[in-house]
Amino acid sequence: MSTPPKFVPQATPETQPYWDGTAARELRIQQCVPEQHTYFYPRTSCPVCGTEEVKWVTASGRAQLHTYVISHRPAPGFTPPYVIAVVELEEGPRMMTNLVGVEPDPEHLELDMDLVVDFEARGDDVLVPVFRPADSEAAA
Ligand SMILES: [Zn+2]
Repeated sequence: MSTPPKFVPQATPETQPYWDGTAARELRIQQCVPEQHTYFYPRTSCPVCGTEEVKWVTASGRAQLHTYVISHRPAPGFTPPYVIAVVELEEGPRMMTNLVGVEPDPEHLELDMDLVVDFEARGDDVLVPVFRPADSEAAA
């Protein structure tokens, strides 16, 4: 039985620079110009101060594990168990993602552990950010 493919995100005008970033294997987030509030997910105005004067910056790709759940439920393209995580980027914002390169086992998942971004191919030309332990081998 073949597994249905994973969901392929579609860019919107607001998120196009984000997906252009992942295609270049860069994690781009937004920052407001007046106060330098850095935030995620992409929006047309700063969620802290409300200004629409915002720009894109490239995140370092370093993060720490904030919280996670090990899912045992099948989902299209995912073989359970797999890790759904909230990571805190070095720049401050938190994002929901998947962890790869680590056993889906609490024994191997320490809160605040250092992570680095990696990119997983979806469909023909979309790369989705995922995170792996900073001390793990990079993807081949
Ligand atoms: Zn702001």
